[in-house]
Amino acid sequence: MTVAIPLTISEALDALSSNPDARLIQGGTDMMVEINFNHLKPHNIIALRRIKELRTWTKNTDGSITIGAGVPYQEMETGELKQLVPALAEAARTVGSPQIRAAGTLGGNLGTCSPAGDGLPVLFAVDAVVHLQSNEVSRQLSIHDFMLGVKRNARNANEIITAVTIPVLNGWQGYTKVGVRNAMVISVASACLAVDKPTKSVRIALGAVGPTIIRCRDAESWLTQQFDLSTSTKIELDLAKEFGRRVALESKPIDDHRSTAEYRRHAVSVLAQRLITRAYPS
Ligand SMILES: Cc1cc2nc3c(=O)[nH]c(=O)nc-3n(C[C@H](O)[C@H](O)[C@H](O)COP(=O)(O)OP(=O)(O)OC[C@H]3O[C@@H](n4cnc5c(N)ncnc54)[C@H](O)[C@@H]3O)c2cc1C
Repeated sequence: MTVAIPLTISEALDALSSNPDARLIQGGTDMMVEINFNHLKPHNIIALRRIKELRTWTKNTDGSITIGAGVPYQEMETGELKQLVPALAEAARTVGSPQIRAAGTLGGNLGTCSPAGDGLPVLFAVDAVVHLQSNEVSRQLSIHDFMLGVKRNARNANEIITAVTIPVLNGWQGYTKVGVRNAMVISVASACLAVDKPTKSVRIALGAVGPTIIRCRDAESWLTQQFDLSTSTKIELDLAKEFGRRVALESKPIDDHRSTAEYRRHAVSVLAQRLITRAYPS
């Protein structure tokens, strides 16, 4: 196996052009599992970890932030990133263990594109934009167009995911998941809720209950009509329950080795109810 260790995005793209079959690796927390179980035997690897451009984040003039594909979860859990995108901090905190969070990244979560990936419901809820770069072009794709199915995305083989742009919303936001135990667990069902008070909008995205992350647009618009999202401080129990019920109707869960479809449908209704109650508690 050959391993290229580029120091810049441009060097990485050159390495990818000369080896179109090469596999990119960032933190390796997904990829090394595949290699260790003999599911993957790459001949050429391009290790992105030393590329500083991928490991930084910036605030943009329009108020959004752009997080490099190689920024580890650990950095999202605290500090200014936590203040700006609290739901991402909550999601990051649920990923694996401290060791996994020190290595694992949003770029890797997007590269793998599992519907159970904890970063993805947050990106769907806030309408994030994925940055892709090849030697020829740079392009930006809405997260809704990027994720195509279970472990399928719109990245071309000659492209590197360089970053994700996230609008900073003005309102409560949070992430929650259920798994077969409390820690070190892949989601059986997950949900991210984000309120934007100036636009009186609520967004809810579900993970692990469909082939892609699911935005529950019907439940979102129903709640907007029932409830003033910008001035209210408390949501009645009946309304929160009905919101949960409507969210569950939009999920498309299946039975698999982790759970049943029935349990997942019930779980997302409870998660949605809890999130909206946390957003409007009193
Ligand atoms: C013990 C354990 C626990 C885990 N727990 C969780 C969990 O709770 N929640 C969760 O969501 N995940 C979990 N994971 C999975 C993993 O940590 C995450 O998916 C993480 O985000 C992967 O990031 P990475 O940088 O390590 O990706 P890598 O393993 O380096 O790469 C993953 C895939 O993305 C591609 N890729 C990486 N970077 C780029 C890039 N810049 N451009 C294009 N393609 C790229 C790679 O080619 C590969 O196909 C766990 C893994 C382990 C081993």
